Amino acid sequence: MPFKQLGLPDSLVRGAQAMGYAQPTPIQQRAIPVVLGGRDLIGSAQTGTGKTAAFALPILARLGAHRHGPPRVLVLEPTRELAAQVETAFRELGRFTNLRVAVIHGGVGYGNQRAAIRNGTDILIATTGRLLDFLQEKTLSLAGIEALVLDEVDRMLDMGFIHDVRRVVSQCPPKRQTLFFSATIQPEIEAVAKFALHDPERVEI
Ligand code: AMP
Repeated sequence: MPFKQLGLPDSLVRGAQAMGYAQPTPIQQRAIPVVLGGRDLIGSAQTGTGKTAAFALPILARLGAHRHGPPRVLVLEPTRELAAQVETAFRELGRFTNLRVAVIHGGVGYGNQRAAIRNGTDILIATTGRLLDFLQEKTLSLAGIEALVLDEVDRMLDMGFIHDVRRVVSQCPPKRQTLFFSATIQPEIEAVAKFALHDPERVEI
């Protein structure tokens, strides 16, 4: 089944083609229509399955065009390497849109990241520590978040970030779409999912 039949607009079908993606992977086939329809989603999928494009493509589609202001989508990642990779994926898949992407993570100075937030971004990719710093100094508000992605939640749990993840979730508006990905779904993960998601569709790969 080609990308176009999943309901994606031409700009994103072209974005996927430009990446060399000929056909959607199984998780993309199952997740893209659910996310386009506005449902919450819990996906148990490993990296390497095409998970990133499974959420990035329909999120880019739902955003439409760039709107100046606070971020409308927040993607939480456990590490700065993953945050940087996911930022690149959003940028490349969205190259035929005018949507803006910014990334914030630890290990580098605050100046450029602060400027990126102030310039207005549609999509913000973040690690929890740096995100909480910017929320505390009020450089950033999550009041405009329409969609929240919690990626690799099992790794966030292993790294001891679950309390921070809950803090971030509770600062997002309750009326939002939430997507949740974890390679394994053990009881502690299920508890976070229950806290963050509303009537989710389950996709297992
Ligand atoms: P991920 O699971 O998101 O880390 O993706 C794993 C790798 O698969 C990345 O290198 C992607 O660029 C690639 N990929 C994602 N979707 C597709 C697709 N539909 N066709 C071919 N490669 C893909």
